[in-house]
Amino acid sequence: MLMSLPLVLRTRSELRGYTSAFSNGNLGFVPTMGALHEGHLSLVKCAVEAHEGSVVSIFVNPTQFGPNDDFHKYPRSLEQDLKRLAGSGVGAVFAPDVAEMYPEGAQTLVHVAGLTEGLCGPVRPGHFDGVATVVAKLFHAVGPCTAYFGRKDFQQLAVIRRMVADLFMPVRVEGVATLRDPDGLAMSSRNAYLRADERAHALCISRGLRAAQRAFAAGERRVAELHALVLSELLQEVSRIDYVSVVDPDSLVALNGLVHERALVAVAAYVGTTRLIDNTELGVDRSP
Ligand code: AMP
Repeated sequence: MLMSLPLVLRTRSELRGYTSAFSNGNLGFVPTMGALHEGHLSLVKCAVEAHEGSVVSIFVNPTQFGPNDDFHKYPRSLEQDLKRLAGSGVGAVFAPDVAEMYPEGAQTLVHVAGLTEGLCGPVRPGHFDGVATVVAKLFHAVGPCTAYFGRKDFQQLAVIRRMVADLFMPVRVEGVATLRDPDGLAMSSRNAYLRADERAHALCISRGLRAAQRAFAAGERRVAELHALVLSELLQEVSRIDYVSVVDPDSLVALNGLVHERALVAVAAYVGTTRLIDNTELGVDRSP
């Protein structure tokens, strides 16, 4: 059976043509940078199921990449993405170009302070300003009642929630569980960079996080022990570790001593030249 491709809208004015039909606000939104995989599609499913209208944006946002990041080589595959979205029920795809999102003369950046000081913040200066800015612009352009973000990018989710609360944005932000390949690797557009041998090394990240999860379930509460468990899985396998951190899941501040109720264990590491992030939440029952 032929599945219809979603509507592709290139400008904010075309987008309004679609979104204005949902002026009651019953619109779900999934911002992405494309190179869509099943993880993205799980967010799309949430948006489609809960709303009359739904929009997926596909935009590789230059302001969230540093000078040494992979902006130019980031996978771009709009046609394939549209095929992947066919049959998902999504109403429209917003795929603007850079000039549409950042018209000449644009000077405004959104900066979320405290939450961006740890984890990826120091190693990717300016990254979260770029993320918060583009998401704020997309929220204004789309006007959704609910937006869906992956828990895999846990710090990003926290930053967006903070921005929405601080700027009184009328958007509900939903965090969606991380989708993994059967062997545990968190799905990511950047996995496409990995050679087969690198992909095998990359499994150490989810292995380490599972080890922390198992130890926590068995009663381990010492932050240093949980940290060491993850680190020991990584050491022989990755080419560089940006961080292994055990943090408070609300403030993202590093924990010392013991985990009391909940913690986030977060990892950012390079396998070859590919930077991967992943995390697990301790003390949170996410089973259905
Ligand atoms: P990206 O295209 O990488 O900017 O991701 C777009 C959205 O998809 C973000 O909210 C991500 O957190 C989310 N996402 C990426 N990978 C996954 C995954 N494996 N499972 C669930 N959500 C994901």
